[in-house]
Amino acid sequence: MAAPNIETIVSLSKRRGFVYPASDIYGGLGSSWDYGPLGVELANNIKKSWWNWAVYERDDIEGLDSSIILNRNVWKYSGHETTFSDPLVDCRDCKTRLREDKLDKNDEGKFVCSNCGSTNLTESRAFNLMFRTTVGAASADDDPTALAYLRPETAQGIFVNFKNVLDTSRRKLPFGIAQIGKAFRNEVTPGNFIFRTREFEQMEIEYFVRPDAAARAHQEWIDGFDEWLRSLGISSANLKHYEQTKEELAHYSERTVDILYRFFPEREDEAKQWDELMGIANRTDYDLRVHSKKPEDAEGNRLNPDSTEDLSYFDPQTNERFYPYIIEPSTGVNRTLLAVMMDAYTERTNDKGETRVILKLKPEIAPIKVAVLPLAKNKPEIVEMARKIKKDLQPSMRAVYDDTGGIGKLYARQDEIGTPFCVTVDHESLEDEAVTVRDRDTWEQERVSIDALKEFLKTRL
Ligand code: ATP
Repeated sequence: MAAPNIETIVSLSKRRGFVYPASDIYGGLGSSWDYGPLGVELANNIKKSWWNWAVYERDDIEGLDSSIILNRNVWKYSGHETTFSDPLVDCRDCKTRLREDKLDKNDEGKFVCSNCGSTNLTESRAFNLMFRTTVGAASADDDPTALAYLRPETAQGIFVNFKNVLDTSRRKLPFGIAQIGKAFRNEVTPGNFIFRTREFEQMEIEYFVRPDAAARAHQEWIDGFDEWLRSLGISSANLKHYEQTKEELAHYSERTVDILYRFFPEREDEAKQWDELMGIANRTDYDLRVHSKKPEDAEGNRLNPDSTEDLSYFDPQTNERFYPYIIEPSTGVNRTLLAVMMDAYTERTNDKGETRVILKLKPEIAPIKVAVLPLAKNKPEIVEMARKIKKDLQPSMRAVYDDTGGIGKLYARQDEIGTPFCVTVDHESLEDEAVTVRDRDTWEQERVSIDALKEFLKTRL
């Protein structure tokens, strides 16, 4: 089972403290969200899993954390200043602002407003998605020399550091650079909770390869990411690949495969249930070439007169100099978190006929691994024992103590936030030095001695 729609996750998130609307006490800010106590843990665990898998478990990746605000020339030569835009149209009837490339066409081939069905739309115009800012205390708002952008992707910070990382880490091709960080896009139509927001977080790898090895490396990353997403607990039935058509490909891309998730299972038309979770592009040698000082046009003029470096690579084995191809797997932290929550969402009826929500998160990414619950909170010895168990477990796993309700309520709360195990301390525990461990998914209970508890939980986590 998975969540029937995103709304179910929105309400669970607000109720339990995963994600809240941002600046809510002032009426919010369209499509901005804050990650609460459980959301920040879940997001951190997803990022940790990604970093472990992408960086630590391989021998060919280095990490990086580049600036959000970069020299404007980065965005000039990357092409973002001129091409990073969406086609914007307004509906003359209902005044909704729309992205033309996301609209359906009617039988006459005319775009239809997704809000009111009208075809009375304005001509489309390119709307640049980069957030502008000015740098420096004295700069006027319209001073072009002070103009800067909040990065719309983490990738460019990696390309401009290619030579730094290559030289300092003494790498040879193939190798990659991984980065996790915030990106900003002034989206025309943000929405669907954290699926599309103006501020979001990306996990990107730029993998540098010889041109003749690019196609194969590309496919290996596609297969690898499919596996990683499934290792987070996302079921294969809700994942599929989409091969971008020649018309859809970005100007730098030779081939791009998107991994889609079934974010909209409630939609009748099966084809519309899917949307992009991540993209994996073969960016060719475009990026290192455009940021290099050397390439020239037919008349011998430098294509990039502002760059001070040549980002080509010398292969000592073949004695060749060339611009490496780049394979880019780009994943959104927020969309991954949404997919993980949707896929883990389960309902189960208890023996009293009540419906309970269980978030069957993989233990590796669950915000809390174990909750220690005293059966009688008015009995100081039980409370003391429970608190001590929580404290002993804490250095090895994220543990919480909770005595704010009856045991049934406490179990239900932990099920709903995805805690794999509850440990209950009862009157008998004082005699036999053992506790009851309850499994989130089966609701089965097992008696475990306190001495063996940490090992018992660790092996199951
Ligand atoms: P879309 O077509 O949905 O706008 P995109 O193809 O422009 O996405 P990319 O530039 O490939 O997205 O970005 C890589 C990843 O970053 C996406 O697959 C997604 O997970 C995430 N991402 C991009 N834009 C947003 C956004 N506005 N909000 C949340 N995540 C985003």
